[in-house]
Amino acid sequence: MVQSLQGIGMTSLRTRERMIKRLSEQGIKNTKILETLRSTPRHIFVDEALASRAYEDVALPIGYNQTISQPYIVAKMTELLIKSPQHHLKKVLEIGTGSGYQTAVLAQLVDHVYSIERILPLQRKAKSYLWDLKLKNISFMYGDGGVGWADYAPFDGILVSAAPSQIPNTLLQQLAIGGVLVIPVGMAGKQVLQRVTRISDDSYDIEQFDSVIFVPFLSGKE
Ligand code: SAH
Repeated sequence: MVQSLQGIGMTSLRTRERMIKRLSEQGIKNTKILETLRSTPRHIFVDEALASRAYEDVALPIGYNQTISQPYIVAKMTELLIKSPQHHLKKVLEIGTGSGYQTAVLAQLVDHVYSIERILPLQRKAKSYLWDLKLKNISFMYGDGGVGWADYAPFDGILVSAAPSQIPNTLLQQLAIGGVLVIPVGMAGKQVLQRVTRISDDSYDIEQFDSVIFVPFLSGKE
């Protein structure tokens, strides 16, 4: 592990700098988020064979037909969730741990992350990478994120990394008043990144952002 943490050395430092520059050119403004992306080693979350491509702005395969989201999407979703450098989130629910990269980013920016994954071997790998990075403010659940995580609700933020055809009602119910849900919604090829803010018990504000391509949000577990 130590070897892969240091791994690609200077190359990774230079390419990381380039990634941050690109993200700010693409409109990411929150400096706390940019700093976190600069210091988080994305290459440890992908297979060694792909590590040299870890800082390119592409999604990469992580096995089991899943992908690690491209850096721009991770940055954009994080920026939609954490509305400003002053916006402090205590509890955030993440659905689709996948490689654990987005989890690592969130764990450095909020008090606690609750992360659900439906594919057990992916969850196991993610847990070990996050442990190596000494990120301890994360609770993991193996299961179907469609039912949320009632034990710890309500959440100040919910971030979903897979696309359902419509927003699951349970997730809306598990948002705190003032809480924010960031989620790609739509059928394959026609997904849009949405931000839902809970205004009161029964009213929600919905904003639409980029067109995106995500793996489908599936029910049950594997
Ligand atoms: N943010 C992750 C994205 C991984 S891809 C990363 O950058 O690595 C999306 C993940 O969502 C996959 O691991 C997939 O198994 C998971 N997923 C899809 N539907 C889910 C559901 N209903 N509950 C939990 N996880 C789900």
